[in-house]
Amino acid sequence: LVSRDFHPEDTVIRVGGATVGGSDLWVVAGPCSVEGRELLLESARLVRDGGAHALRAGAFKPRSSPYSFQGLGEEGLKYLAEARALTGLPVVTEVMDTRDVELVAEYADVLQIGTRNMQNFSLLKEVGRTNKPVLLKRGMSATIEEWLMAAEYVMSEGNHQVILCERGVRTFETATRNTLDLSAVVVAKSLTHLPVVVDPSHGVGKRAFVGALARAAVAAGADGILVEVHQRPDEAKSDAAQTIGPTAFHQMMHEIAAIAQVL
Ligand code: PEP
Ligand code: MN
Repeated sequence: LVSRDFHPEDTVIRVGGATVGGSDLWVVAGPCSVEGRELLLESARLVRDGGAHALRAGAFKPRSSPYSFQGLGEEGLKYLAEARALTGLPVVTEVMDTRDVELVAEYADVLQIGTRNMQNFSLLKEVGRTNKPVLLKRGMSATIEEWLMAAEYVMSEGNHQVILCERGVRTFETATRNTLDLSAVVVAKSLTHLPVVVDPSHGVGKRAFVGALARAAVAAGADGILVEVHQRPDEAKSDAAQTIGPTAFHQMMHEIAAIAQVL
Protein backbone atom coordinates (compact mmCIF):
# COMPACT_ATOMS: atom_id res chain seq x y z
CA LEU A 1 0.00 0.00 0.00
CA VAL A 2 2.85 2.43 0.69
CA SER A 3 4.72 1.67 -2.50
CA ARG A 4 4.92 4.03 -5.43
CA ASP A 5 5.01 1.01 -7.75
CA PHE A 6 1.34 0.37 -7.03
CA HIS A 7 0.31 4.00 -6.65
CA PRO A 8 2.47 6.26 -8.84
CA GLU A 9 0.73 9.58 -8.10
CA ASP A 10 1.54 11.55 -4.95
CA THR A 11 -1.04 11.15 -2.20
CA VAL A 12 -2.57 14.43 -1.12
CA ILE A 13 -4.03 14.56 2.40
CA ARG A 14 -6.52 17.18 3.50
CA VAL A 15 -5.98 18.67 6.97
CA GLY A 16 -8.51 21.37 7.76
CA GLY A 17 -8.45 23.89 4.93
CA ALA A 18 -4.95 22.88 3.76
CA THR A 19 -3.46 19.94 1.91
CA VAL A 20 -0.29 17.94 2.56
CA GLY A 21 1.57 16.37 -0.34
CA GLY A 22 0.27 18.63 -3.07
CA SER A 23 2.07 21.61 -4.53
CA ASP A 24 1.78 23.73 -1.38
CA LEU A 25 4.17 23.54 1.53
CA TRP A 26 2.46 22.52 4.80
CA VAL A 27 3.70 24.01 8.06
CA VAL A 28 2.71 22.70 11.47
CA ALA A 29 4.04 24.79 14.34
CA GLY A 30 3.60 25.25 18.07
CA PRO A 31 5.12 24.44 21.43
CA CYS A 32 6.47 21.02 22.32
CA SER A 33 3.80 20.60 25.04
CA VAL A 34 0.46 22.06 25.95
CA GLU A 35 1.58 23.95 29.07
CA GLY A 36 -1.63 25.73 29.99
CA ARG A 37 -4.69 27.35 28.47
CA GLU A 38 -3.52 30.96 28.08
CA LEU A 39 -0.07 29.97 26.86
CA LEU A 40 -1.50 27.63 24.24
CA LEU A 41 -4.04 30.13 22.95
CA GLU A 42 -1.28 32.73 22.68
CA SER A 43 0.95 30.24 20.78
CA ALA A 44 -1.92 29.36 18.46
CA ARG A 45 -2.44 33.01 17.51
CA LEU A 46 1.28 33.45 17.04
CA VAL A 47 1.69 30.55 14.63
CA ARG A 48 -1.54 31.38 12.78
CA ASP A 49 -0.39 34.97 12.26
CA GLY A 50 2.95 33.67 11.02
CA GLY A 51 1.22 31.59 8.35
CA ALA A 52 1.23 28.06 9.82
CA HIS A 53 -1.41 25.66 8.47
CA ALA A 54 -1.78 23.63 11.67
CA LEU A 55 -1.03 23.91 15.39
CA ARG A 56 1.04 21.28 17.18
CA ALA A 57 1.49 20.64 20.93
CA GLY A 58 1.65 17.47 22.99
CA ALA A 59 -0.87 16.69 25.73
CA PHE A 60 0.69 13.25 26.31
CA LYS A 61 4.48 13.58 26.41
CA PRO A 62 6.94 10.71 25.98
CA ARG A 63 9.61 12.04 28.38
CA SER A 64 12.89 10.21 28.96
CA SER A 65 12.46 10.60 32.72
CA PRO A 66 9.24 9.64 34.52
CA TYR A 67 9.84 12.64 36.82
CA SER A 68 9.77 15.19 33.97
CA PHE A 69 6.55 17.00 33.00
CA GLN A 70 4.33 14.35 31.41
CA GLY A 71 1.78 16.65 29.77
CA LEU A 72 -1.72 17.73 30.79
CA GLY A 73 -3.55 14.76 29.27
CA GLU A 74 -7.24 15.29 28.48
CA GLU A 75 -7.16 18.83 29.92
CA GLY A 76 -4.51 19.62 27.29
CA LEU A 77 -6.68 18.14 24.54
CA LYS A 78 -9.50 20.48 25.60
CA TYR A 79 -7.21 23.49 25.29
CA LEU A 80 -6.16 22.30 21.83
CA ALA A 81 -9.81 22.15 20.77
CA GLU A 82 -10.30 25.64 22.13
CA ALA A 83 -7.24 26.87 20.21
CA ARG A 84 -8.68 25.39 17.03
CA ALA A 85 -12.01 27.14 17.63
CA LEU A 86 -10.19 30.42 18.24
CA THR A 87 -7.82 30.36 15.26
CA GLY A 88 -9.36 27.94 12.78
CA LEU A 89 -6.11 25.94 12.77
CA PRO A 90 -6.42 22.14 12.80
CA VAL A 91 -4.45 20.47 15.60
CA VAL A 92 -1.75 17.81 15.52
CA THR A 93 -1.06 16.01 18.79
CA GLU A 94 0.67 12.82 19.91
CA VAL A 95 -1.06 9.66 21.06
CA MET A 96 1.19 7.29 23.02
CA ASP A 97 -1.12 4.51 24.13
CA THR A 98 -3.71 2.32 22.41
CA ARG A 99 -6.06 3.05 25.33
CA ASP A 100 -6.03 6.77 24.49
CA VAL A 101 -6.57 6.59 20.73
CA GLU A 102 -10.32 7.06 20.89
CA LEU A 103 -10.02 10.00 23.27
CA VAL A 104 -7.26 11.77 21.33
CA ALA A 105 -9.10 11.21 18.05
CA GLU A 106 -12.13 13.02 19.50
CA TYR A 107 -10.08 16.20 19.84
CA ALA A 108 -7.27 16.02 17.28
CA ASP A 109 -7.31 16.58 13.53
CA VAL A 110 -4.06 14.63 13.06
CA LEU A 111 -2.76 11.84 15.32
CA GLN A 112 1.00 12.00 15.84
CA ILE A 113 2.96 8.81 16.44
CA GLY A 114 6.25 9.67 18.10
CA THR A 115 9.68 8.34 17.26
CA ARG A 116 9.65 6.04 20.33
CA ASN A 117 6.43 4.39 19.19
CA MET A 118 7.18 3.96 15.49
CA GLN A 119 7.28 0.20 15.94
CA ASN A 120 4.50 -0.04 18.53
CA PHE A 121 2.50 -2.23 16.21
CA SER A 122 -0.64 -2.36 18.37
CA LEU A 123 -0.71 1.44 18.42
CA LEU A 124 -0.13 1.62 14.65
CA LYS A 125 -3.02 -0.75 14.05
CA GLU A 126 -5.26 1.17 16.43
CA VAL A 127 -4.69 4.54 14.67
CA GLY A 128 -5.15 2.63 11.41
CA ARG A 129 -8.74 1.98 12.48
CA THR A 130 -9.52 5.69 12.89
CA ASN A 131 -10.41 8.11 10.12
CA LYS A 132 -7.86 10.74 11.21
CA PRO A 133 -4.66 11.46 9.28
CA VAL A 134 -1.61 10.06 11.06
CA LEU A 135 1.71 11.89 11.29
CA LEU A 136 4.23 9.08 11.62
CA LYS A 137 7.62 10.09 12.93
CA ARG A 138 10.59 8.01 11.90
CA GLY A 139 12.02 5.90 14.71
CA MET A 140 15.33 7.34 15.88
CA SER A 141 17.09 4.10 14.91
CA ALA A 142 14.76 2.93 12.16
CA THR A 143 15.78 2.27 8.59
CA ILE A 144 13.72 3.86 5.85
CA GLU A 145 12.27 0.45 5.08
CA GLU A 146 11.18 -0.07 8.71
CA TRP A 147 9.58 3.38 8.66
CA LEU A 148 7.65 2.58 5.49
CA MET A 149 6.57 -0.76 6.95
CA ALA A 150 5.25 1.10 10.00
CA ALA A 151 3.16 3.20 7.60
CA GLU A 152 2.03 -0.05 6.00
CA TYR A 153 0.73 -1.22 9.41
CA VAL A 154 -1.50 1.87 9.62
CA MET A 155 -2.67 1.57 6.03
CA SER A 156 -3.33 -2.16 6.26
CA GLU A 157 -6.09 -1.39 8.79
CA GLY A 158 -7.84 0.85 6.27
CA ASN A 159 -6.51 4.33 7.07
CA HIS A 160 -4.49 5.48 4.06
CA GLN A 161 -3.90 9.01 5.33
CA VAL A 162 -0.30 8.78 6.54
CA ILE A 163 2.13 11.69 6.62
CA LEU A 164 5.73 10.58 7.13
CA CYS A 165 7.98 12.79 9.29
CA GLU A 166 11.79 12.65 9.36
CA ARG A 167 12.94 13.90 12.80
CA GLY A 168 16.59 12.94 13.00
CA VAL A 169 18.30 9.67 13.83
CA ARG A 170 20.84 8.58 16.44
CA THR A 171 24.45 8.72 15.30
CA PHE A 172 27.90 9.01 16.94
CA GLU A 173 27.59 12.80 16.80
CA THR A 174 27.05 14.63 20.09
CA ALA A 175 27.19 18.25 18.87
CA THR A 176 23.57 17.96 17.78
CA ARG A 177 20.69 16.16 19.53
CA ASN A 178 20.13 13.90 16.51
CA THR A 179 21.39 13.82 12.96
CA LEU A 180 18.73 15.09 10.57
CA ASP A 181 18.68 12.66 7.66
CA LEU A 182 17.65 14.66 4.62
CA SER A 183 18.62 11.80 2.35
CA ALA A 184 15.65 9.99 3.89
CA VAL A 185 13.37 12.60 2.34
CA VAL A 186 14.51 11.98 -1.20
CA VAL A 187 14.75 8.21 -0.75
CA ALA A 188 11.33 7.91 0.92
CA LYS A 189 9.70 10.10 -1.71
CA SER A 190 11.13 7.88 -4.44
CA LEU A 191 9.76 4.72 -2.77
CA THR A 192 6.37 5.95 -1.60
CA HIS A 193 3.54 8.21 -2.75
CA LEU A 194 2.92 9.38 0.84
CA PRO A 195 3.83 12.96 1.80
CA VAL A 196 7.11 13.41 3.69
CA VAL A 197 7.62 16.30 6.10
CA VAL A 198 10.66 17.25 8.14
CA ASP A 199 11.03 18.22 11.81
CA PRO A 200 14.25 20.24 12.06
CA SER A 201 13.62 21.00 15.76
CA HIS A 202 14.06 17.45 17.08
CA GLY A 203 16.39 16.79 14.15
CA VAL A 204 19.09 19.16 15.35
CA GLY A 205 18.05 20.03 18.90
CA LYS A 206 19.53 23.53 18.87
CA ARG A 207 17.51 26.66 18.20
CA ALA A 208 20.24 28.42 16.21
CA PHE A 209 20.28 25.70 13.54
CA VAL A 210 16.57 25.09 13.04
CA GLY A 211 16.05 27.72 10.31
CA ALA A 212 18.94 26.49 8.16
CA LEU A 213 17.71 22.89 8.32
CA ALA A 214 14.14 23.91 7.51
CA ARG A 215 15.46 25.66 4.40
CA ALA A 216 17.52 22.62 3.45
CA ALA A 217 14.53 20.31 3.94
CA VAL A 218 12.35 22.37 1.63
CA ALA A 219 15.13 22.55 -0.95
CA ALA A 220 15.40 18.74 -0.78
CA GLY A 221 11.73 18.39 -1.63
CA ALA A 222 10.00 17.97 1.74
CA ASP A 223 6.23 18.44 1.62
CA GLY A 224 6.20 20.38 4.84
CA ILE A 225 7.89 21.40 8.07
CA LEU A 226 7.03 20.57 11.68
CA VAL A 227 8.64 23.11 13.97
CA GLU A 228 8.59 23.88 17.70
CA VAL A 229 7.71 27.52 18.37
CA HIS A 230 6.99 29.29 21.67
CA GLN A 231 6.37 32.96 22.45
CA ARG A 232 9.07 32.77 25.17
CA PRO A 233 11.16 29.77 24.10
CA ASP A 234 13.50 29.85 27.10
CA GLU A 235 10.50 29.26 29.36
CA ALA A 236 9.19 26.23 27.43
CA LYS A 237 8.49 23.28 29.76
CA SER A 238 9.97 20.78 27.31
CA ASP A 239 12.47 21.02 24.47
CA ALA A 240 13.31 24.68 25.21
CA ALA A 241 16.79 24.44 23.65
CA GLN A 242 15.40 23.60 20.22
CA THR A 243 12.31 25.84 20.35
CA ILE A 244 12.39 29.01 18.28
CA GLY A 245 10.74 32.32 19.14
CA PRO A 246 8.38 34.52 17.12
CA THR A 247 11.05 36.43 15.17
CA ALA A 248 12.92 33.33 14.07
CA PHE A 249 9.60 31.69 13.14
CA HIS A 250 8.55 34.59 10.93
CA GLN A 251 11.96 34.62 9.30
CA MET A 252 11.82 30.86 8.66
CA MET A 253 8.37 31.19 7.09
CA HIS A 254 9.59 33.86 4.67
CA GLU A 255 12.70 31.92 3.76
CA ILE A 256 11.02 28.59 3.11
CA ALA A 257 8.29 30.27 1.05
CA ALA A 258 10.98 31.87 -1.11
CA ILE A 259 12.71 28.49 -1.61
CA ALA A 260 9.44 26.70 -2.39
CA GLN A 261 8.68 29.30 -5.01
CA VAL A 262 11.79 28.58 -7.08
CA LEU A 263 11.28 24.80 -7.04
C1 PEP B 1 7.46 15.97 19.72
O1 PEP B 1 7.08 16.18 18.56
O2 PEP B 1 7.40 16.81 20.64
C2 PEP B 1 8.13 14.68 20.00
C3 PEP B 1 8.12 14.14 21.22
O3 PEP B 1 8.75 14.17 18.93
P1 PEP B 1 9.65 12.85 18.71
O4 PEP B 1 8.73 11.71 18.88
O5 PEP B 1 10.15 13.03 17.31
O6 PEP B 1 10.77 12.90 19.73
MN1 MN C 1 9.32 18.15 21.48
